[in-house]
This record gives sequence, C-alpha cells and structure tokens, in this order.
Amino acid sequence: MNEQTSVPNDLDSFWMPFTASRWFKANPRLIAKAKGIHYTTVDGHEVIDGTGGLWCCNAGHGVDRITKAIQDQAARLDFAHSFNQGHPIAFQAASRMVDLADGFDHVFFTNSGSEAVDTALKIALAYHQARGEGQRRILVGRAKAYHGINFGGLSVGGLGLNKGQFGTLYPSAQHMRHTDLPENRFSHGQPEHGAHLADDLQAICDAQGAHTIAAVIAEPVFGAGGVYPPPKGYLERLREICDANGILLIFDEVITGFGRLGTPFASQYFGVKPDMFTAAKGMTNATVPMGGVFTTAAVRDAFLQGPETMPDLFHGYTYSGHPLACAATIATMDVYRDEGIFENCAAMAPVWQDMLHQFDNAPGVHDVRNLGLMGAVHLEQKGAVGDAGRAAYEALWDKGLSVRPAGDSLAMSPPLTLTESEIGQIGDILASVLKP
Ligand code: PMP
Repeated sequence: MNEQTSVPNDLDSFWMPFTASRWFKANPRLIAKAKGIHYTTVDGHEVIDGTGGLWCCNAGHGVDRITKAIQDQAARLDFAHSFNQGHPIAFQAASRMVDLADGFDHVFFTNSGSEAVDTALKIALAYHQARGEGQRRILVGRAKAYHGINFGGLSVGGLGLNKGQFGTLYPSAQHMRHTDLPENRFSHGQPEHGAHLADDLQAICDAQGAHTIAAVIAEPVFGAGGVYPPPKGYLERLREICDANGILLIFDEVITGFGRLGTPFASQYFGVKPDMFTAAKGMTNATVPMGGVFTTAAVRDAFLQGPETMPDLFHGYTYSGHPLACAATIATMDVYRDEGIFENCAAMAPVWQDMLHQFDNAPGVHDVRNLGLMGAVHLEQKGAVGDAGRAAYEALWDKGLSVRPAGDSLAMSPPLTLTESEIGQIGDILASVLKP
C-alpha cells in the first residue's frame, strides 16, 4: 500500500490550482489523511478542517457509508456514458436530487461547480432562443462574485484577480455592484442595509433594453469573495425585477447547497425561488467530482417544443452522470438524512454566530460576517491586500485550525456535523491568534 506519509521528492510536476508554487514549496502543507473534522499532515500535525475541504465535506471526512457505496459501484459498473444510452443509477441520483429541491423538476449533471455554472448560462441562452427570443444574450453577474473559472463563470464573476490574465471573455456580460456596505459591518446574519442594490439590475435593463437580457446569476451568500450574506429583501427584489422583465434568475448554490444554511438549499432558507440553480461540492460530500444544474419544468419544457429531430439541449460531458459520482450522491443524501446533518447545522448556527462575534472588538479586526455554518473574520489590511490574511492563516494552521484566506478575510465553512464543543475549540484557536 502507498502510505503517502512523506514529502514527495518532486514538488514541481503538479501545477497547483490557485497556488504560487514558490509559497507552497517554502512550507509545504501536505495532508496525509482525514477523519471527521480533522486532517493529519505527513509529519503528524493535526488540524481542524475549518473549511470542510473547500466548502464541500458537509458530513465530515472519511464517512464509511459513502466510501463503501463508491467501492461497490466501481466493482458493479465502473463507467458507462449517457449519450444516447443510460444507466439506472444516474436516474436514481437525479430523482434524489429533485426530491430534495422543492419545485425543481430536472437536474443536468456536470463534474464541478464551474461546469455547472457554464451549463446554466448556456441553458439560459438556449432557453430564450427556443422561445423565439434569441436576442436575449446579456448575462448579468455581480462584483465580488465567484462563479468558477470557466469562460462563462469568469465572465459573470467579479473577482478581478481571477479575470485579469484573460482579456475580454464573454463579450455580453454586465455586472451589478456587490452588497458590501460599510454600515453592514458586524451584522449578525443577514445585514439590514442594501436591498436597493438589486435595483442595479433594473438600471441595466433600462440602459441595455430588458428584451436583451437573458439571465442574472447570484450566489445567495457571496462565498469565495469573503462570505457576504445578502441584505434583507435583496434577493426578493432581484426576483421581482426578473419577473417583471422576463429574465431568468439563477442562484449559484455551489457553496450554499446541501445544508450550509440548515436547509437543503439556500433558496429554501430565503424563501426566494430562482428559475435554475447550480450545485456541486456537497453533492457527494466531495468524495467524487460532481455537480449539476437544477431547473424548473418551465425552463426544460421550452426545449421540448422544437422539431422532433433536435436534441433538447445540445450540450453534455463524457462524465455527466458518472456511475461512481451517482453512487456517492445517493449515499451522501442517505447520510445527510439519517444523521440529521442539515438539522444539526440549523441548531449550531446560533452557537457559531456567538463564537465568531466574540472577535468584533479584537484588535485588527475590520468585520465579522456569518450565516448558517459559514463565516468570515475580516482583518484590517496591513501591507499589501492579503498579507494580514495570509499571516493569520499560517499562525492558525500552526495552532491546529485550517481556514481559507480570501484577501484579508479568514473564511470558514466547517463540516455541518460540528458540535458545540468543537465550535468552542475553533473559538479558542482563533482567540489564541486574534486576541493573544
Ligand atoms: N460557484 C461557486 C459559488 C463556488 O464557490 C465555486 C467553487 N468554490 C464554483 C462555482 C466552482 O466550483 P468548482 O471549483 O467545483 O469548479
């Protein structure tokens, strides 16, 4: 057996995602194994996984039922594609998905969040075309948004660093402002101010002509941009403007999906129903790459009215509905249900909120934000943007907690299995660095 417990000789061949290799090689943090909420590094250092993988291991690590389901499926049917043929487990997984998502009737499987976003944007364009409104080509996103790294998602995304190297991308993308207002600092949960910022969508309609706008995409809670919950009334207002102008509303639930706010999806938490939403990450508890786009019947039906010879959507991935990913999805849903994972998130959210907001007055803290079991401690900038965040990340790692630096925000999204005492442990480690 390959134990994977030492530092590999070659740290060059793997071109790492979003990582400057010179930083990594100066102090390689190499994880050998994981169980529950803990990682253990190759040199035996144990850290609490404060980011649940990368916002994705909602049931914690090493869940035996999921491992077993993947092993069994690999032995039974390792792979079959779904282009003009199919296999039962993909249909079973899709049924489980739509059962969880009230009012959504179909799911298109992808392999990642980025693919889910680009698929949703393409469905929006093709939907309008199928209904004779092919002039609707504008896709609207927001500043600070993260929608993955493929062409469509980058185009509607709003994190400058991610886009700077790539030029124009999709030419008909427009952006609304983000909802980070100074008066919202230290809000507990959803902030009070900023519903009016949804009117940026109306302004884009007025400037471009509403009849040219296909869709608007929004993370219900900005995640990778630094954990910004939506101001009260904001998502409701977006929905109204979309309805009044024939625009599709897409929620990007790649982070918020599968219980992060205590409900299966954020749309249920906020009581605002989009026309489509994306999900990934927690769909398989991150064990096998998997994502999907959920649509209402109304969206799908538009595609079924074309000529008999046309496929209903000319789009797909070799691995859409991969048997291993589908087996992992079904087992993951069983675990979420049987272990009351979403309910635990809802019960722990107030404890999490209190723990995080003990840092509101800590020196060098600019803001603290939270919703469900996600949160961020935003540090004041010291030196270049990101320097303070990186220094705190390193200090926290050494003390036994991994967080995700997003600029100077320390983003956290622990496994949803978290107990009160584990929240206490996270609080103690944060305090040892933020209030030494
Ligand atoms: N959308 C959102 C909201 C995300 O947070 C992410 C990943 N963090 C993505 C899309 C992209 O997902 P992936 O990395 O699986 O492509």
